[in-house]
Order: sequence, then C-alpha cells, then structure tokens
Amino acid sequence: QQSASERKLNLSRSRALFQEAQQVMPGGVNSPVRAFRGVGGEPVFLERAEGAYLYDVDGNRYLDFVQSWGPMILGFGYPSVLEAVTEASKRGFTFGAPTQAETELARLVIESVPSVEMIRFVNSGTEATMSALRVARAYTGRSKIVKFTGCYHGHADMLLVQAGSGVATLGLPDSPGVPSETTANTLSVPYNDKEAIKQVFQTYANEIAAVIVEPVAANMGLVLPVPGFLELLRELTTKHGALLIFDEVMTGFRVALGGMQERVQITPDLTCFGKIIGGGLPVGAYGGRREIMQVVAPLGPMYQAGTLSGNPLAMASGIATLKELRKPGQYELLEQKSQLLGEGIARVLHDTNTDAQITRIGAMFCLYFTREPVHNYADAKRASTERFASYFWEMLERGYYLPPSQFESCFLSLAQEEAQLQEMVQSIETVLRQQA
Ligand code: PLP
Repeated sequence: QQSASERKLNLSRSRALFQEAQQVMPGGVNSPVRAFRGVGGEPVFLERAEGAYLYDVDGNRYLDFVQSWGPMILGFGYPSVLEAVTEASKRGFTFGAPTQAETELARLVIESVPSVEMIRFVNSGTEATMSALRVARAYTGRSKIVKFTGCYHGHADMLLVQAGSGVATLGLPDSPGVPSETTANTLSVPYNDKEAIKQVFQTYANEIAAVIVEPVAANMGLVLPVPGFLELLRELTTKHGALLIFDEVMTGFRVALGGMQERVQITPDLTCFGKIIGGGLPVGAYGGRREIMQVVAPLGPMYQAGTLSGNPLAMASGIATLKELRKPGQYELLEQKSQLLGEGIARVLHDTNTDAQITRIGAMFCLYFTREPVHNYADAKRASTERFASYFWEMLERGYYLPPSQFESCFLSLAQEEAQLQEMVQSIETVLRQQA
C-alpha cells in the first residue's frame, strides 16, 4: 500500500492528533480496530457527521460505510432522533430509577421480535452476551457453552476464544489475561460445520447450557449461514435441553426489523441486541422467553445490574430510531439500495476479473479478496489482507470510509442515495483496474 506521504489526502491534523493520543491511550484508541493496524498507516480523526457523510479534522469528506460499526442505520443527525435525544437530555441525563422510556423501548423490541417476551437493557453488546450466557447457565444449571470460531460476542473473558473482529485482525487466537480456567467451559466449533456441532452434542450432551451464534457471522468479514446450519442448532439444542442464543447485536434491526431470526424463521430462546437499538448511544439488551427471563434479578436469583442501564438518553435515541425503522417500506428501501450496490460490485469484480468476491445480506456486505468460497474463519483468513489494504486506502482517497480491516462488514444506511452508490461502484472499478 501507499505510504502516508504518497497519498493525495491531507491527513496532517489527523496524524498530529494521533501522535498526541498515543501518549495517553494504548495505541491511541479506545477500541483496537480503530487504530487502522488492519490496513497499515494511521487512523483518520473524525470531527462530525451529517446524513451519509463523515467529516475529518483535516476537512476531508467521506461517504460512510462503517456507521459506527452498525448503529447509524438512519444516517447521522436524523431529525426525529436528534430531537428525542435533545429533549431527553433537558429532562435529565440519568436517574438510576425507572422511567417510562424503558418500557416503551422494551415494547418496541418485543413487538418487532416475537421470540422476545421480556427484555433487560444493558450498556453494550458485550454485557448483553455475557448476561445472556449467565441466564442460560442459571436456567439450565449447566456450565458448558458452545461458540463458533471467528464469531465475536464482545470481550468477556469466557468468550474471547477464537473470536473474530479485532482479535482476528491482530491474529491473536486468544488474549493474555484470560486464565484458562475461565474458558475451560467454552467449546469452540467451526462456523457452518454441521458434523462438528453434532459431535460436540454427542460428547457433552447433558453439560451444554447454551449455543451462542451470530446468525450471520459479521466479525470475520461477512459469512452467511449455509442452509440448514441454524436449523440444526435449533434442533440439537431443543433435543438436548440447551438454550439457543442468537447474538443479533449486529443483525438485529439490520437485516430485517425482526433480525436474522425473522429471515430464517427460527425462534431462539434468547437474543442479544446492541448497536441499532441505541441509535448511536451506548445500549445493549438481552431478552427471550418469559419463563427463561424470569430467572433475572430481582424477579429471580440471577444477578445482573447497571448504574446507567436503561439510560434515558439512550432509550430516547433507541425509541426514535426504532419508530422510524418500523414505518412501512424502510427495509425494502434499504434492500433496494443494498442490492444496487451489491450487484454493481459483483459486476465490477467480474468485468475486472479480480480475485475477489462480495458477500451480502440486506444492508451488510464484505468484499473478500479471495475467489474461494468463504464459509468459516479458516476460509476467511485466506483472503489477501494486502490487497484489501491497498483497496482500502485507494477508496479512502476517493472519499469512501470503509472498515479498516478485511475481517469487518460494511454497512449501508437509509441516508445513502442511489446516485452516491452508483458513483461508488465506478470508483471501485477504477481502483480495481489500477491494481490489476
Ligand atoms: N456481538 C456481536 C455480534 C458484535 O458484533 C459485537 C460488537 O461488534 C458485540 C457482540 C459486542 O458489542 P459491544 O462492542 O457493544 O460490546
């Protein structure tokens, strides 16, 4: 890839701010992938955003395909969301006491996702998955959990086993600081591998509390479930008395109003949410069947709490976002835009004979620099990170802000217009022809 000095983009102020940031924060960031190590070079410091565009501290403008890693599905500064958050902030930032907004957001989620009968709000996706697994263990009285290699469920100790996302980018199979005792009950199985999961249930039949899965794996690029895979998980968990947890932190309210479970018509026992349900403010949630959720304190014995849980600003942002998404036609519109882009990219890959493929579902997509089909983490790792890095910088220079890693998904928003997406397809073609 190009060195910073060869790039036409002026990123001088970003570079200066990054120098300063590195003095006081590990790697200069508060979440590893933001440091751009997946593509080499240094991160862009952002100043503001509006609609579909991000503006950096050097005055460059980018069409945004990161959307803060998923939440900003309406685009930035959406009027009804902005107004709801502004009004809520005037009433008080946080009380640590019940507010009506919590029930309202709970109802919106429950009405949109039928498998959820009761819900608990937390502050991040990490908290949601961690707590859902605690519920599963409390409810079943069992200890073992099954996850899939390359699936990322946040950074809780027991889940940092062959996780994707930043861990994949850094090539760390695991993290120091996680004692082996903590992960001793975590079984990791290749994604989409039906035989492997059958085997695990044969071996540990009555010890498995839950299977947790990203119903679309979006932390190793974007890997779709093969037909029958999610169905098999439902069948095996039901048969053996384990719970099925869909981690829809990424896919919830993204691939459909009812998430991936709506698309595949599978009813998980528990679901984890985050990202979109907070409309850009810090929120997570876990919910599911009433009978299971009744183990949560103070109704039941399983302890889980949070000073800022159900925060009024976050609830207001989430309510306004979900209300917008529940209007008729929104997901059809999003699909229309996504299809236009997806088909455009596929055409360009074909015309330029590039060793790459696009995977897509709804408003999520990934350009993998490999022709081999990608069904799991091992497949994903065959993609060329060098080619990706070069593509990333060329696109940034042309005003497209993509996730700075081959192992992350791109997101579209309702704010993006068809003309912008058509232009993007042309830019991709130019870049790929240059690289050929
Ligand atoms: N689960 C999935 C599927 C995710 O993609 C993420 C984050 O990207 C998480 C959990 C963790 O969420 P958070 O970063 O809010 O802790």
